[in-house]
Amino acid sequence: MQTPSKLLLENKAWSENIKSKDPEFFLSLAKEQRPETLWIGCADSRVPAETVVNAQPGEIFVHRNIANQVITTDFNCLSVLQYAISVLKVKHVIVCGHYGCGGVQAALQPQKADLVIANKWLLHIKDVYRLHQEELETIDPRKKTDRLIELNIIEQVYRLAHTSIIQSSWKHGHRPSLHGWVYGLQDGLLNELITLDHKTEISPIYRYAE
Ligand SMILES: [Zn+2]
Repeated sequence: MQTPSKLLLENKAWSENIKSKDPEFFLSLAKEQRPETLWIGCADSRVPAETVVNAQPGEIFVHRNIANQVITTDFNCLSVLQYAISVLKVKHVIVCGHYGCGGVQAALQPQKADLVIANKWLLHIKDVYRLHQEELETIDPRKKTDRLIELNIIEQVYRLAHTSIIQSSWKHGHRPSLHGWVYGLQDGLLNELITLDHKTEISPIYRYAE
């Protein structure tokens, strides 16, 4: 049982364990953070960013929400992105989704009355479905959800590329590279779906002119 008191006990043990190996670990980390990667992932408890890439505290700047979305009117996500790019100067942004994503599965269903707020968040995934409707309705129905999960990840990477934050950073600093990854709940493995960088040609209607 993961009760809050059990979690606090586990935290003490974790901290002691790290300090026994490296007494300076927290003291040096407390001075500053220098992560090279921003991770935009799903809130799903089975896909913890640091754990699946074997990273230590301080190595990854993390933003997670339902179905790893980059909504360009979401000040939460955009603030994280801007801070990561302008202050932390990260070299890579990874959008990581996962097969078996409950958010994407829910987006394939009619809207539920008890989820009036979440419904609105999921509408953006329904838009990804509509954008790729022809492909999604002609493939093997058993593969439809997995494919929408992949297309949703790819779409979020393009949304990042369409922001002024990324295009300005590409122009002036040639960073970050943008990556779309999908995680398999069944095998714990990550697979690459798309990579964009400063050489990527942006469609004129999305181009940011400074
Ligand atoms: Zn998910």
